[in-house]
Parts: sequence; structure tokens; C-alpha cells
Amino acid sequence: MHERRGFLRSLMGLSAAAWAAPVVGASATAAAQGSTGAPNRKLGVALVGLGSLSEHQIAPALASKTQHCKLTGLVSGHPDKAKAWAKQYGVPEANVYDYQSFDRIKDNPDIDIVYVVLPNGMHAEYTIRAAQAGKHVLCEKPMAVSVRECDQMIAACKAAGRQLAIAYRLHFEPNNLELVRLAREKVFGAVKVIEAAAGFRIGDPNQWRLDKKLAGGGSLMDIGIYALQAARYIAGEEPVSVSAQTTTTDPVKFKPGVDESVLFSLKFPGGIIANCASSYATGLNRFRAGAERGWFEVSPALNYVGIKGRAADQSNAIKDFDFAPVDHFAAEMDDFASCILSGKPTRVPGEEGRRDVRIMTAIYQSAATNKTITL
Ligand code: NAD
Repeated sequence: MHERRGFLRSLMGLSAAAWAAPVVGASATAAAQGSTGAPNRKLGVALVGLGSLSEHQIAPALASKTQHCKLTGLVSGHPDKAKAWAKQYGVPEANVYDYQSFDRIKDNPDIDIVYVVLPNGMHAEYTIRAAQAGKHVLCEKPMAVSVRECDQMIAACKAAGRQLAIAYRLHFEPNNLELVRLAREKVFGAVKVIEAAAGFRIGDPNQWRLDKKLAGGGSLMDIGIYALQAARYIAGEEPVSVSAQTTTTDPVKFKPGVDESVLFSLKFPGGIIANCASSYATGLNRFRAGAERGWFEVSPALNYVGIKGRAADQSNAIKDFDFAPVDHFAAEMDDFASCILSGKPTRVPGEEGRRDVRIMTAIYQSAATNKTITL
């Protein structure tokens, strides 16, 4: 067991490289780079949207866990909240903006990166405005609510010569990375079937997550996207077709265009099939790959803390993964800052976010038409 754990650990570095997303042009901020190109200072991050994720995960990570970036700006529609945050995190008053004054961020050299943590339907506008203000952008998932918006976001960042990353935190989580390594290196033979499920039971019926305009859809856009991501990163290929069905048991909470639960299956060019589930009606939290001579999985798969993985060979002898926990948000922000400082492309670029939005659009189309959609 110990030997195997050591082996798994020693290969972590390889895993990250093997998982690198398609390459986009590097667009480093010259001002942030030393003459050698090596990181030489902490980049400043402005948070746009001081909601639950910013409060409980991102700001605490920036306050005490990140090595290459720190919190230097706040953008909020609530002046009192912003003031209290500025005091708590030592952000100067001059670096606090609201949604109207946001564009003035272009004159603020303390801010290198804008992290968009707003409802999905607002991601495109604030990413584009941030790029036009000359800032690099880290944008929460899902990237946007349409492929057209994704294209506009990619074009705006390209035109400004700034990097765009989508906050796919599991690309920095060791147990999920291990699934990718086991698949790529065919440790248990070739992967044949993937099962990926992500869901939680949603509460307040009046929240933006249940508003089509702000959410872009329902559970799939918010949580099912993790199952889609897992299927894609385990398969290591892009799906060629998708078929899906949705169901609604609570028509008061779930209006047309806002899915409650979705089952979707993906077919990959090498023959792998993935069976995926997304739900706002129940907890679902597992990614599993069945290979020729064994299986491997993470469950829980996507918690902020406590992700666990395991694998089994043909004899079904189960061995647990053994990785030190990481703060997903500190890891993703540090990686983005390092990419900017050293001029390397991020492994989670806008193009990666666009792929998911395109496939999710096809999933909804399949469910609506009861047809398999070719991608
Ligand atoms: P939230 O509702 O807690 O916060 C949203 C913020 O946006 C609030 O500060 C709110 O005031 C502001 N806002 C501005 N205009 C608004 C409007 N018209 N309606 C509603 N809110 C408005 O949401 P959250 O959970 O922090 O999610 C924000 C983003 O982060 C979403 O895109 C979500 O998908 C993403 N997210 C990602 C993860 C992850 O693990 N990576 C986890 C949770 C949320």
C-alpha cells in the first residue's frame, strides 16, 4: 500500500502536465514580469461580486494562502458591504468600485487580475469590461450563458493582450488529477466507460440560480458542468455526440429553461462512453472510470474539502489515494498569477470554458428535441 501511495504521489507533477488544456497564445503583462521573466511580486486581484463564494472561499484564500497574488480591489453593488470588506482585508478605499465606476479600474496599477464571481449571465459583460481596462481575467464557471458570449470574451482578452482563465478548481485538485493520470497512462488498461454525477438539493426558489436570464439554465450550468468536465478530462478527448433527457418534479421551483435534473451521455471518438447526471434535486458527488483491468474513482468528487479517491484492480482490491489536501482556490489563483508572471498560457483558458458551454447547449438541445446531437 505504502509503495503504491509513494508511486502515486511521485507522479503528481507529471499528471498536471499531462492534463494541460489546449494551448492559447501567451499574453503576459510585461509590467508584472521581471527581466528574467521569473515571478518577482504578488499580483493584485480585484474581486467582482462579494457573494457566498467570494466570502467563504476566495477572499480567505487570498488573505492567507496564496503565494503569487493578493486581494487589492473590491467591486460591489453594496457600499456598506464593500466598506466592511475593505476594512477586514486591508484594501484601500481608492481600490473599491461599484458596477458603474468599475471601468476606472484601468487607472489602478494595484490591480492586475479581475476575478469575476457574479451570476453566470453577468460573466461576459464584466470579463469584457475588465479586458478593456487592461486587466487579466479569471472568470467563474460556467464561462458564460452562450457560445456567442464566450467568443466575445475570448476576443476581448485577445485584443487587449491579456490572459483569460476559467476557474475550474478541480484542475488543481490532486485526486482528480490522479484520475487523469491513471487514464492517460492506462494503468488499468484503456478506459471504457465513465460515470460522472454532480448535484445538490437547491433551496430558496427566488435565487438567481433558478432565474434563466442570470443562470443560463439550471443544474447543468451550475453543478452538472463538473460531471461534464470530469467525463472530458478522464476521456482526454472531445465528445462527438450527446443525448440527454431532463425531468422536473417541482414546477414551482423549476420554470421552463431551468432544469431540475438532467441525464446525459457522451460518446467519444475512441469509443469511450460517459453516462452523466446533474441535479438540483439531490446530492450526487462521484466520478468513476471503468477500465479494462480495474476501475478508479473520486467520491466525494467536488467538495471544497475532503475529496477522496480510490482505485481497484481486477481482483477488486481497493486502494485509497493518499494526497495532502490543497486549497483549490489558492492553487488556481496562484497558478494563474504564475502564468501571467512567467508568460505561460493557463491550462484552463477561455477556449476550455467555451467547449463546455457548447456541449451544454447541445445537451439542452438533445433534451428538448429527444434527438442525439452530433457535435
Ligand atoms: P452568490 O449569489 O452568493 O453571489 C453573487 C454575487 O453577485 C453577490 O455579491 C450579488 O450581490 C452579486 N450580484 C450582482 N448583481 C446581481 C444580480 N442581478 N442578481 C444576483 N446577484 C447579483 O453566488 P455565488 O455562489 O458566490 O456564485 C457566483 C459565481 O461563482 C457563479 O458564477 C457560480 O457559478 C460560481 N461558483 C463557483 C463555485 C466553484 O466551486 N468554483 C462555487 C460556487 C459558485
